[in-house]
Amino acid sequence: MIVNNQKIDVLDLTKEEALEEAKRCLNCKKPLCVQGCPIENNIPQFINAFVNDDLALAYELLMEKTNLPAICGKVCNHEKQCEGNCVLGIKKTPVKIGKIENFIANFAYENNLINNEKKASNLGKVAIIGSGPSGLSCGYILAKEGFNVDIYEMEEKAGGILTYGIPTFRLPSYNVDREIEKLKNLGVNFTFNQKLGKDFTIQSLKDKGYDAIYVSIGANMKKSINVEGEDMEGVIHANHFLTEYAKNNILIDKDDVVLVIGGGNVAMDASRTAKLVADNTTVVYRRTQKEMPASLEEYEEAVKDNVPFMWRCSPLEFIGENNKLTGLKVKNLDTDEDFVIPCTKVLTAIGSKPVIDDKDIALDDWGCIKISESPFGMTNIDGVFAGGDVVTGANTVVVAMREGRKTAHSIKDYILSR
Ligand SMILES: Cc1cc2nc3c(=O)[nH]c(=O)nc-3n(C[C@H](O)[C@H](O)[C@H](O)COP(=O)(O)OP(=O)(O)OC[C@H]3O[C@@H](n4cnc5c(N)ncnc54)[C@H](O)[C@@H]3O)c2cc1C
Ligand code: SF4
Repeated sequence: MIVNNQKIDVLDLTKEEALEEAKRCLNCKKPLCVQGCPIENNIPQFINAFVNDDLALAYELLMEKTNLPAICGKVCNHEKQCEGNCVLGIKKTPVKIGKIENFIANFAYENNLINNEKKASNLGKVAIIGSGPSGLSCGYILAKEGFNVDIYEMEEKAGGILTYGIPTFRLPSYNVDREIEKLKNLGVNFTFNQKLGKDFTIQSLKDKGYDAIYVSIGANMKKSINVEGEDMEGVIHANHFLTEYAKNNILIDKDDVVLVIGGGNVAMDASRTAKLVADNTTVVYRRTQKEMPASLEEYEEAVKDNVPFMWRCSPLEFIGENNKLTGLKVKNLDTDEDFVIPCTKVLTAIGSKPVIDDKDIALDDWGCIKISESPFGMTNIDGVFAGGDVVTGANTVVVAMREGRKTAHSIKDYILSR
């Protein structure tokens, strides 16, 4: 479906549809959906307030646990989290919790139910590096609590993977723009095209007099696939492909024969996006459909988009002429046969890792930033905190948000106790 020139998978629910869905909720005494949600969202409570037509209360209940309800309502892996635990799912279909959450958030925005009240910004000055869900969430809580917040971002726009990774057909840009507007209304300052390690350092921010710094730069660098020829022209990291696509810099063309290696959600996003440009796009995965980490919903959307899959094929070598890709040699793990799949572009979606351009921050064995439990989120440098994917490794929006909020409270305690 095309809305405002954007391909959109599934439209938001209307009020009638959302209400019909909300009325299916059994309001369980021990709601398993809450246990399945990484932020233990107030699910039965916000659904109940909505059923009683108190949308302001429904929104308030949501905001106790989340500041990105419209986004999580769209992109959380519902079938493994809240909805996967709904008791109605045992015999019938679970309540569409994510869609209800998204509806309430959109309704609150469109009907001016959002409370932008904050305390005076005089408690201290905090710098946040990176404006993905973790940085935005940390900034939101701190601004609400009365801190002066400056966000430094290396790209031209805020949002991190919400803007430069997840395709707009799954997460329309208005959902992200509204969240950023919410922060701007709270007085948060954004400085774009500023990269840690290139344009500034942790020390230069400290010299500017910040009371605390939150590093939330994600984990978006290519992980090696460890297959001969991976540096060949035409082999592209799927995250990089999606980032460039979001900037309207399309790295493939319609005559390309594209293979996407991987079986996670990034592979689904990359293959569906590539398919919009090059019809001849195929996913190559070394396991079976049942074993793939992508959500069933994302896999089914890829199938609807006519993306073909080659199962149990393990990459062995990139084949090329004069450093230009012409094929991918794979082993069929069922027949033990090696064969070459002709192709002109390969998008590797086998994972990503953080890159921290500051030699003073201590890292763990996986190259992620090490943080302490108390004060929560503090790195080895006094007053410098970190959270989101740069600490956990590639994870999810809801977890990055949760960590951003939790660290914001820790930063508040740290500053106020000095
Ligand atoms: C294609 C794709 C699809 C995904 N789909 C889903 C999904 O459907 N559901 C889900 O829950 N999760 C999904 N994820 C994962 C989810 O998006 C991430 O876990 C989440 O965005 C992490 O948030 P973050 O704030 O830690 O980092 P990011 O979102 O990566 O944000 C980091 C920010 O820091 C900036 N930055 C990086 N380095 C520097 C630097 N040196 N200086 C200044 N700024 C810097 C970046 O530009 C970016 O804005 C997906 C990931 C990808 C790649
Ligand atoms: S935050 Fe995500 S997992 Fe939790 S209730 Fe909302 S959509 Fe479900």
